[in-house]
Amino acid sequence: MPGAGIGPALRNAMGEPLSRKLSAASIEVVWARAIVPPVASGWPASFVRSSNDPPVLLVSPDGNGTSPPTADNFRVRDVGLQSYGASVAGTPVHYYLGHPSEVVKPELYVFNNHAAKLDAVWMPQLTYNVQVHLVDYVNPTTGARTPTAITAGEIDTMIANVNMIWSQLGVRFVAAPPVTNGTTVAEDVDVIVGATQAGSSNDELTARFPSANIDIFFVNSIWTSTFGLGGAFDAGNAIFPGSGLGTPGVIVAAKVGPNASTPGTARRDVDDMSRTLAHELGHYVLKSAEHRDDELWNLMLPGADYNKRDLDDAQSTRLRNSGVNPATPDQ
Ligand SMILES: [Zn+2]
Repeated sequence: MPGAGIGPALRNAMGEPLSRKLSAASIEVVWARAIVPPVASGWPASFVRSSNDPPVLLVSPDGNGTSPPTADNFRVRDVGLQSYGASVAGTPVHYYLGHPSEVVKPELYVFNNHAAKLDAVWMPQLTYNVQVHLVDYVNPTTGARTPTAITAGEIDTMIANVNMIWSQLGVRFVAAPPVTNGTTVAEDVDVIVGATQAGSSNDELTARFPSANIDIFFVNSIWTSTFGLGGAFDAGNAIFPGSGLGTPGVIVAAKVGPNASTPGTARRDVDDMSRTLAHELGHYVLKSAEHRDDELWNLMLPGADYNKRDLDDAQSTRLRNSGVNPATPDQ
């Protein structure tokens, strides 16, 4: 239920939580799911609930519902949906949350008597192929390499995280094995976003190693000259198709800080970079520079907070109507 915000738990003098609007560990509800396929599809309508015996619907707070400890959105993942087979685009799928007392009286049956109803629509999956590039600087004189220090295993984890986020809109990113690009252009490692900078910039980097897929570049750092007052180090950057800003591509910084002048700057962790990657891919596939400052839980809120990773109906509509076609990802 995006946007159904809750505050931090109130606590008594002993530090024990007094209340919490949603707590995955203690919430007690009956879930139900109704699928209403069009008659022409030939699929039967389906209604199942978690209180069935045996339970058919596996969605539950203990299973596929989560309330992240530092966020306030209760998230539900229905992993059993495919088994019903009603994969007709536009098929309504409704979820109901009711009280366990529904077993006591027919009048309390969750279909008729529920605390909340979530309306969803079945949509075909969109699959985008991506090519990950790790951009190492190779000193042209000594041959010494300055890597991003990101491993192939970490990339796998990041793509899995990104797919978890984008599965909300039925999107899946499939990554080819990462390639390491050795560059002798120092500014490809510390990328500068801003048209008037000397040396390499974001558009030069994305043009240097293009592939037929959506290109993702991990670089050491990104300096955005329009960010903050007079410029600042940034977490990510995207040149989205149709922006007119250069060869499309997504750039993610391994550090929010420079490479050479502050060598002690810690490399970002996988969760941080995952959120940045998911956000920048959002600019790309939505073909939009828009940020959702009005939705504090939205993936497209600026910043790198990993917990802000939800998407909304308007973004789903935009993706399907005017987003990137998986067959032509650079257009
Ligand atoms: Zn952004």
